[in-house]
Amino acid sequence: MRQLFKTVLILLTIAVFACGCKKEDTEEPTVTSHDFTVEQWAEFIDQKEAAQAEAAKRAAEEAANGDTGTNGTDGSEQSQNSSSSDNPADSGSSLTDPTPTPAPVTVIVIDPGHGGGYTGATYNKVVEKDLTLKTAKFARDYLEDNYENVEVYLTREEDKALADNLVDDLEKRAKIAKEHKANALVSIHFNASENHNRTGTYIYVSRRSQVKDECKGLARAIMKELTELGTKERAIEERKSNDMFDDSGDAYDYYAINRHCAARNIPGIIVEQCFMDNEEDRQFIESDMALKMLGEANARGIAEYYGLTRKAE
Ligand SMILES: [Zn+2]
Repeated sequence: MRQLFKTVLILLTIAVFACGCKKEDTEEPTVTSHDFTVEQWAEFIDQKEAAQAEAAKRAAEEAANGDTGTNGTDGSEQSQNSSSSDNPADSGSSLTDPTPTPAPVTVIVIDPGHGGGYTGATYNKVVEKDLTLKTAKFARDYLEDNYENVEVYLTREEDKALADNLVDDLEKRAKIAKEHKANALVSIHFNASENHNRTGTYIYVSRRSQVKDECKGLARAIMKELTELGTKERAIEERKSNDMFDDSGDAYDYYAINRHCAARNIPGIIVEQCFMDNEEDRQFIESDMALKMLGEANARGIAEYYGLTRKAE
């Protein structure tokens, strides 16, 4: 019995080997152990390449139409696995997107301080509201002329108040920034002191946590440009309200522009360029050319902080 079992086992082993050899000799060689013959594989490759070409063509057409939606030239396996990205309405982009995603547009609101009956500081017939409007327009023009991915709005284009009371006038400036979905509001001002001996630039930033860091970063970039122009750097400051606190007891900002912008999650800063009543600082306001240089310094700081793309020459 034992001998018989041994013989059967040997015969079975030979049969298995014979079968295996026969199989290798006679069947088509396979590329994978299970799925495809060479012909099937070649056909699969053809289909895959055709799908890639079609996807690339579609992506190029959509890019030409301004649509950033679909997946690109990656293999059909990935396309199949993420078929939702084949939907042209899908606004998401994939790591394999062959077309660079356009740089997002930065929206800046520049606020020429004061206006109309709210004149701001005056000294020797020079009125702050006029200086701020000119400087703001120079800043806007410089940004629009030199950078691609930026939209700039002014809170006023002429000598006017934005409301019939000062409280609403100041809040309106932040509301305008909100309406434009602004990345930031930069309020342009000039300083003055009682004894006319103070000089240099102060920038007031919000102390509220949701916008504080961005305010400071933007302020530093603008301060750098203004000091390179020759104004003295004095301070980038937060100022607390004396009488307005949130539920946790934390003070709101003292200045309305900072406060109203922060309430709308917009970093709003006040740039007091220099002292218009000071002999030394007067060089920065005494001509339109000087105001242009100030406006452009603000613009360059904004562009630097938001990484705006320079237009090609
Ligand atoms: Zn002012």
